[in-house]
Amino acid sequence: MGERGRLIIITAPSGTGKSTVIRRFMETHPDMIHSISCTTRKTRPDKRDAGDYTFIDKETFQSWIDQGKFAEWAEYVGNFYGTPREPLDKWLEEGTFVLLDLEVVGGTELKDLYKEDAISIFLLPPNEEELKRRLSSRGTDSEEVQQERLRTALVEMTYKDKYDHRVVNDDLDRACKEIEKIIMEG
Ligand code: ADP
Ligand code: 5GP
Repeated sequence: MGERGRLIIITAPSGTGKSTVIRRFMETHPDMIHSISCTTRKTRPDKRDAGDYTFIDKETFQSWIDQGKFAEWAEYVGNFYGTPREPLDKWLEEGTFVLLDLEVVGGTELKDLYKEDAISIFLLPPNEEELKRRLSSRGTDSEEVQQERLRTALVEMTYKDKYDHRVVNDDLDRACKEIEKIIMEG
């Protein structure tokens, strides 16, 4: 039997660059899988997130919680997000490395659930000013949502020491190389 895979949990305050890092990572590591979460959030206007989620309504999300379909789920800025449980064990047995983009509560829960099968990485913005700039530069959220995400981001930062590793997303290539080293040494 080959080696087991790993769940690579990437958490960061909204706007830090998780999706960008994961997209870049998938380009350079096509053998890895990006776990597609379910969410009740609406698709962003530019549909840049079209492949990142399965978009479902609140009733469906609740029924899937009741049926135990999520390995973890959380509410974030008024919407629900959850990781489908079923494929995770199969991927681990097959030796696949799986990237998961999760907020702080779900990220720490999944690490507690999968323990040594998971590596948790907290991505940090270089500073608060740059985080504000990135949140608004994305241009996909209203001013009100950006403010709420920024407030949430400051609370999320307090979780950073619960993670196995912390990486600053200053320069994208540098941050991806650091994450790669963590995964390979993992
Ligand atoms: P998240 O998924 O964490 O909410 P995104 O990946 O959508 O964040 O990135 C938010 C914004 O920051 C985007 O406009 C993205 O292009 C930009 N960004 C991401 N990483 C970097 C980086 N290392 N340097 C500069 N801008 C970045
Ligand atoms: P966004 O709306 O910006 O795509 O995502 C909002 C937040 O939800 C981000 O912090 C993202 O990491 C998180 N998220 C995305 N999918 C999941 C999931 O399946 N579970 C949890 N707990 N958080 C998720």
